[in-house]
Amino acid sequence: MKAAIFDAPHIMRVGPWDQPKPGPNEVLISVRATGICAGDLHIYLGKSPYARYPIIGGHEICGSVQAVGSGVTDLKSGQLVVVEPFLSCGRCYPCRAGKPNCCANMEIIGVHRAGGYAEFLVVPASHLYAVPEGVSPFWASFAEPVTIGVHACRRAQIKHHEFVLILGCGPIGLALIEVALAFGARVVAADVLESRLDTARLLGAEILKADEQLLDRLLEQTNQEGAPVVMEATGNAKAMESTASLVAAGGRIIIVGLVAQGVQIQFPGLDFTRKEMTILGSRTEMNCFPEALKLLAVGKVQYPKFATEFDLWSAPEVFSRIAQDPGSVHKGVFVRD
Ligand SMILES: [Zn+2]
Ligand SMILES: [Zn+2]
Repeated sequence: MKAAIFDAPHIMRVGPWDQPKPGPNEVLISVRATGICAGDLHIYLGKSPYARYPIIGGHEICGSVQAVGSGVTDLKSGQLVVVEPFLSCGRCYPCRAGKPNCCANMEIIGVHRAGGYAEFLVVPASHLYAVPEGVSPFWASFAEPVTIGVHACRRAQIKHHEFVLILGCGPIGLALIEVALAFGARVVAADVLESRLDTARLLGAEILKADEQLLDRLLEQTNQEGAPVVMEATGNAKAMESTASLVAAGGRIIIVGLVAQGVQIQFPGLDFTRKEMTILGSRTEMNCFPEALKLLAVGKVQYPKFATEFDLWSAPEVFSRIAQDPGSVHKGVFVRD
C-alpha cells in the first residue's frame, strides 16, 4: 500500500509500506481523512519521546471498513468509522482502577504503531465508532480532538451557567470552548494572538487578550472573585502558573496542555489551603467518542469550518511548510479520495 512515512526527523516521504492484515477481532480500515495534530508535528521535528522511525503518523482518523478479522460481527464493509487511538494494557494499576487513559503501557495508534497517514491501517474492533449519518469524513476526523474537550469538561464537572475561563485558543482550546458551551457554561477564552481570539469569538466564546491586564480584566468581570473554573490549554509554563491567581477560591483548575519533559511549574503554596483550589490533570479521553460524535452530528462543534483540507499525498510538503511557519496552518486535515 501507499503511505506517508516519517523516516527520520524532518524527513518524510510518500512510498510503499507493507499492507497490514486484520487478525482476530481486528478491522482493516481504508483511510478517508486524518487530522494533523501537534503530536504529529513533534514526530516530524524529532521531538516525540515515543516515536521510533520509520513510522506512519496520524491519530485523528476517519475511514471506512475494508475487511474484518475473525470474531468481528457488528461492522459492515464500507461503514464509516472513527478510530479511538489509545490502546491500554488492561493490567497496570490505572487500567485496573478504571483509568485506562493513564495506562502505564499505553500505545497510541499513529505514535507507537502505524497510524492514518496511509491508505490502510488495522485497528482493534473495540476501538472503532460508527460515524452518524450526515457527518463527512473530514468532519468526523475531529471526533478525537473533541473527545479531549469532553474528557476535560467531565473532569471539571462543568455545570450550567458556570463561568469557565479557557487559556489558549489553539485546536484543543477551541475544542474545550465548544464542549464547555455545549455543557451550558459561560465561556471566556484568552489567548495572546488576535487571530485565534477572532475564531474563539465566532464559536461563541467571550474573549480576553492574554496580556499583563488579563487578571485585572477577569476580576472586573467576576466581581473580584476570579474564575470558578480555569482550563489550561496552552502548554505554556507561565500560563499554567497563572491559573492559581486566575481561579476563584474554592474553584477548579484543569490542566490539559502539555509542557516538555522536565519543565517545572511553581504554584504559590499558601493558595492550596487559602483558596482550597482543586488542580486536576486531564489526559487524553476515556469513553468520550460517543458524546464527541453526537456533538459533531448535532452541530455543536463548528471549528472544523476553520480547518484546511490537504491531499494526503502532499503530506511531506505540508509538514515542511508547517515546520517552517507553524502559524501558517491553524488546523489541517489530510483527505484521501
Ligand atoms: Zn491529537
Ligand atoms: Zn495499563
